[in-house]
Amino acid sequence: MGRGSGDNGAVTSDDALAALRPRLPSPLQEIRDERFARHGVRLLLKRDDLIHPDLIGNKWRKLAPNLAAADGRPIVTFGGAYSNHLRATAAAGRLLGIPTIGVVRGDELAGRPLNPTLARCAADGMRLHFVDRSTYRHKSDPATLARVLRAAGAEDARVVPEGGSNALAVRGCRALGEELRGRADVVAVACGTGGTLAGLAAGLAPGQRALGIPVLKGGFLGDEIRALQHSAFGGPRGDWRLDERFHFGGYARTTPELHRFADDFERRHGQGVERLYVAKMLYALVALADEGAYAPGTVVAAVITGAPQP
Ligand SMILES: *Cc1c(COP(=O)(O)O)cnc(C)c1O
Repeated sequence: MGRGSGDNGAVTSDDALAALRPRLPSPLQEIRDERFARHGVRLLLKRDDLIHPDLIGNKWRKLAPNLAAADGRPIVTFGGAYSNHLRATAAAGRLLGIPTIGVVRGDELAGRPLNPTLARCAADGMRLHFVDRSTYRHKSDPATLARVLRAAGAEDARVVPEGGSNALAVRGCRALGEELRGRADVVAVACGTGGTLAGLAAGLAPGQRALGIPVLKGGFLGDEIRALQHSAFGGPRGDWRLDERFHFGGYARTTPELHRFADDFERRHGQGVERLYVAKMLYALVALADEGAYAPGTVVAAVITGAPQP
């Protein structure tokens, strides 16, 4: 078995990834929105949602280096029942002919009808392995991980962590920042694990600022981003900060107000708004502009990390 080919014949070199034809650099579009214009602020959308129809947004940037490194071996990764990361990993496996195994939080889900996210994973050939919440919480403990991998039949697989944020993924997201050099003063992105922000901030030019909007409650993300930058780059990189006020109740939570905001944004700009991440980030930017956070002349780029799921 040669380098880059698995026993199923899958090839996961950079060439194979290029054959998937990602649209890179992703488009950068200016939109006119009165809520920014009246403060003299320009709003650009960095359309990472257009990178690839199945591997949307930051998921492409994070997965591609891990797929290349998997060298044809199966990939095992982790997520909740609504994880975009699981979906993207399953799609990548189908496109590249790599077996994928998804370890899913919640053993009560086993034997029940799959929700649309998990059904899509299964249709893409991902083998789903459900674990109880306590086991899931302790999955980075080596003994627990070894037990889970054995039970999932994934001992020979390459492990990609929950949310896909490892050092390779963070380095992959540096290109997002590089594509925005000289194009904006502030770049905003919604954060789950913070891996995308960690890489983005490292890729920006001096003087450009990155703003992360966590969609989880908790206030722990800053430490995790510092740890991710340390593992990816050996130390802190770039000028970034978090605004923790816009999680709308936490991961996968929304409120009627958030939906009203997103519906209105869709009407104004004729473009779908993903609700669990992107809507929270756009809401935050409108609020910040209203608070006078941006001086007239500021150019703000909003990273559109995902699209609404059909
Ligand atoms: C996964 C995801 C994110 C969060 O990325 P992290 O690197 O985990 O912070 C943001 N937006 C969308 C649409 C996502 O699916």
